[in-house]
Amino acid sequence: MNPNILQTPIDYLKGVGPSRADLLRTELGIHAYQDLINLFPNRYIDKTQYYKINELQRTTAEVQIVGKIVHLKMVEQKRGKRLVAKFIDDTGEIELVWFRGHKWIKENLKINTPYVIFGKTKYYNGYNMPHPEMELFSEHEKNLKISMQPVYPSTEKLSNKGITNRVISKMMQQLFIETKIRFYDTLSPEILTELKLISKSEAILNIHFPKNQELLAKAQYRLKFEELFYIQLQLITKKLIRKQKIKGYPFTEVGEYFNNFYANHLPFELTNAQKRVIKEIRKDIGSSAQMNRLLQGDVGSGKTIVALMTMLLAIDNGFQTCLMAPTAILANQHYQGILELTKDIGIRVKLLMGSSKAKERRIIHEELANGDLHILIGTHAVLEDKVKFKNLGLAIIDEQHRFGVAQRSKLWHKNKYPPHILVMTATPIPRTLAMSLYGDLDISIIDELPPGRKAIKTVHRYDSNRLKVFKFIADEIQKGRQVYIVYPLIQESEALDYKDLMDGYESIARSFPTPEYQISIVHGKMKPVDKDYEMDRFVKGETNIMVATTVIEVGVNVPNASVMIIESAERFGLSQLHQLRGRVGRGAEQSFCILMTSYKLSSDSKTRLETMVRTNDGFDIAEVDLKLRGPGDIMGTQQSGILNLKIADIVRDNDILQTARYYAMKILKEDPSLSLEKNKILLYTYQQLAKHKNIWNYIS
Ligand code: ADP
Ligand code: MG
Repeated sequence: MNPNILQTPIDYLKGVGPSRADLLRTELGIHAYQDLINLFPNRYIDKTQYYKINELQRTTAEVQIVGKIVHLKMVEQKRGKRLVAKFIDDTGEIELVWFRGHKWIKENLKINTPYVIFGKTKYYNGYNMPHPEMELFSEHEKNLKISMQPVYPSTEKLSNKGITNRVISKMMQQLFIETKIRFYDTLSPEILTELKLISKSEAILNIHFPKNQELLAKAQYRLKFEELFYIQLQLITKKLIRKQKIKGYPFTEVGEYFNNFYANHLPFELTNAQKRVIKEIRKDIGSSAQMNRLLQGDVGSGKTIVALMTMLLAIDNGFQTCLMAPTAILANQHYQGILELTKDIGIRVKLLMGSSKAKERRIIHEELANGDLHILIGTHAVLEDKVKFKNLGLAIIDEQHRFGVAQRSKLWHKNKYPPHILVMTATPIPRTLAMSLYGDLDISIIDELPPGRKAIKTVHRYDSNRLKVFKFIADEIQKGRQVYIVYPLIQESEALDYKDLMDGYESIARSFPTPEYQISIVHGKMKPVDKDYEMDRFVKGETNIMVATTVIEVGVNVPNASVMIIESAERFGLSQLHQLRGRVGRGAEQSFCILMTSYKLSSDSKTRLETMVRTNDGFDIAEVDLKLRGPGDIMGTQQSGILNLKIADIVRDNDILQTARYYAMKILKEDPSLSLEKNKILLYTYQQLAKHKNIWNYIS
């Protein structure tokens, strides 16, 4: 076979004219033969299963029925004509309806002849099936060699233009007959044997024309494995290259600053997780490769102390460090905290923000340049070109998702070699996702909270219980605690949300009147100074209740606040709910989170609320979130590209992902450059992949 045949434009396939080709290109991204081959079915229908008309239910999805048309008529309507057929089997009748293509149908459909019809049924004064796919029963029987009918991805536009699933199946048949396709294998014999995988040829054939259930399952497994395997091979190779090629400054010393702090000034015993993570980091920065590490740990898990101890190591080795936070409030909190922790060990720490005065800046710039300043804490201001270090060796970024890649890369250029980078995040990334997206990063996880924390108690209450909830708030305030009440603010409905917030505020103000109670309110329409002022009053304990939109989500630390009320909780995403809940439970007292909703809840909302009530574990929550929303939504469109998988699903196929990663690591460990004879196929495929950015492209 001519290997280039797969590059043939789809227009040339029999049955595909220019207009269909255009649609295939724009709707499904099918340009050439090979793209069609790589259009894998979403699911399969068992063609040997027929429904009887009297078995239909309003909930049934697509059905296949055997019967015949006994009557065909045109119905005139205000909005246009429709062609209606009465279709019967021995148990009942159903209407078939067409809104388009009347002439062709009238001329070609046979009355009183057995047909197999297939489609979605609707119910309106009896069942009907709009635009059914139809096949003569005799034909259908002949074709039963393939009992599993693939259902291909499609779009509304395609089906409206008559490119139905059956049309795509026909194209696929045509393609396989026309090109007599054979595929070279893309996995090594070793992997095929060890995992008992079927060949590429057999897999591709059976994914489109499954001979039976068993072969279909094998075909799916094989193709999913291949897809995930090459992604892992790529990620792990990237990581290996980074470790070999990107030089960093080795911090070989554990010196006086670190040792003194550890022996004499550590305010508490480190948790085992903190100790483990510090070890992982030390190993990284001790080597001569640049560290690029993601430190994940739930809110309150104690990431700051890990950051500080890493910074002390840098200083011990003669380097400067910086710590960046996404907001002024957070930067300031870090600054205060680190000043306090380091007050007795003779280290110079300064804070730099957009609002820093010119004189202050000048001093900071000077001290950075001459090396007097050890630690610079700040916001984005740290990234400015004017900010020049004498010898920056380590940069720590808190709450990573607020910083873009471009901003981060600025840090890389603040010294001859890039500084070591530690990114801290409290947004747990599910393990499955982390493996697929950040497989090239090193990840440390603090999966243990400091001892003595009381787990936050979470409950779900309906709006009708508001009076009881208010009573509870009053009791907590009576005990000296503070309370957050948070309202959703979704951009699309900002005006309405804003009204909700104000209405809510008024009703709270009525129930908690001055002077007995003091209330702060913070929302996005306020000036930053006013916001800071209100926030500050709450932080200082001058107000009892903080009414806010989600602006308080990131980082605010008020240990005395023990109650978090989330209004319209059904409208928040899981990770947002979890972040908000993390604002309480920071002190010694028992804390509470109350999720308020109306009675009308979707099943996804219910799952979210139940999950919040069930667990405080951020990773557990992240996994549920991933299942509910899918990977693209969670990571944002930017990063979802890599998750544009053709056949595997990183949530459902997690087992295959694990296996694929295991094999990729094993192979690269033995043969990092894939130069062994037995890995020849892997190298070739890998290179093709890199060239075409599409692992299905190199079939020949
Ligand atoms: P986060 O991971 O959310 O940044 P922090 O570093 O702010 O958490 O730590 C939260 C609180 O827990 C701080 O008050 C900190 O002093 C305290 N903390 C951290 N580690 C420990 C520990 N090992 N034992 C006791 N308290 C700790
Ligand atoms: Mg923190």
